[in-house]
Amino acid sequence: MNDIQCIMSTYGRSPVAFTRGVGTRLWDEEGREYLDFLAGIGVNNLGHCPPKVTAAICAQAGQLIHTSNLYRIPLQEQLARRLTATCFADQAFFCNSGAEANEAAIKLTRKYMRDHGQPGRFEIITAVHGFHGRTLATLSATAQEKVQRGFEPLMPGFRYVPFNDAGCVERAISPYTAGILVEPIQGESGVRIPDEGYLEALRAIADRHGLLLIFDEVQTGMGRTGKFWSHQWSTMTPDIMTVAKGLASGVPMGACLASAKVAASFSPGTHASTFGGNPLACAAALATLESLIDDGVIAGVAARSAQLVQRLDSLAASHSMIKTTRCRGLMAAVELNGGAEEVAAMCLNRGLLLSLQMGTTLRMLPPLTITPEEIDQGMAILDGVLSDLF
Ligand SMILES: *Cc1c(COP(=O)(O)O)cnc(C)c1O
Repeated sequence: MNDIQCIMSTYGRSPVAFTRGVGTRLWDEEGREYLDFLAGIGVNNLGHCPPKVTAAICAQAGQLIHTSNLYRIPLQEQLARRLTATCFADQAFFCNSGAEANEAAIKLTRKYMRDHGQPGRFEIITAVHGFHGRTLATLSATAQEKVQRGFEPLMPGFRYVPFNDAGCVERAISPYTAGILVEPIQGESGVRIPDEGYLEALRAIADRHGLLLIFDEVQTGMGRTGKFWSHQWSTMTPDIMTVAKGLASGVPMGACLASAKVAASFSPGTHASTFGGNPLACAAALATLESLIDDGVIAGVAARSAQLVQRLDSLAASHSMIKTTRCRGLMAAVELNGGAEEVAAMCLNRGLLLSLQMGTTLRMLPPLTITPEEIDQGMAILDGVLSDLF
């Protein structure tokens, strides 16, 4: 067996391997340069190796990497304070991934209902084509056949409804329903943006029926859409929110955030994670938050987004293969009538990274620090590929 055969074959990988990155640029083993419009799937929101985060990681690694949650972790407390200051939440639980953050949210929802005299309520309503992770509970929450196939029986306690239809949510409510879990914008299914009023309608339904409203902001959070959290485009708030991807700029970290009333259902011994919120990850996350907020990175997203929308519009006007484009902040998609796989492969060949979603859609999640010139360069590559292929 060669080295790659020693890895379980869970990914259909491109053969390219990167060795170095700065900002929006990556270099492969042969020294070829790439423009990264995917940012590690919305993880490297500050670009590759942002100096402040890299310095914070190096300094923390030289002082203390890990101690365990059996002891106080002051950096974790500081991070919880900063994170909760950005939103409705009062408290945070730290873990290591988006799936784990959603696991925590699911457990917290069940426990909350039990603690409030409704042990029969355990079911969570989720949306078709949503994505919440690959653990057994979160793949059961993920209403996508390709994610679930082969792993049955699924974990009980989830009910699926079409996305962007609040009426269907209300009709799916039963005496067993405990909560509603959705992404404010569906990421993995190709940047599906719900109609205005959808999230507000979910809030009203949750209030009317005594349910918890949970937003999975794993992909849409950390400034991706131009607000710190994408639900902040509206004034309503959830009861629980999950975050991961961009949280610590690539050091694995997730978090489940909640209001004090809901978070109170996690008491000592009810939930835990060995690595969750260790000093190294917290140092990386604190430096990430500092850059996003204090250095004005999120404030700069609106202008870059306007430019990207304008370029997407003109691209769509000149290529009939483009079915539609979608963009919120720096979360964008180009849906094609066909040939999307070829387009993605040729883009990679010409030095542009983006991802293929649902077989038809090219998704872009560039660093929030991308420059106007880099947006133009990337869009020019895509324009050229579409012209040469169709
Ligand atoms: C990526 C993603 C997850 C899963 O995160 P992992 O860190 O891969 O477990 C969950 N929800 C959403 C919306 C995501 O985009």
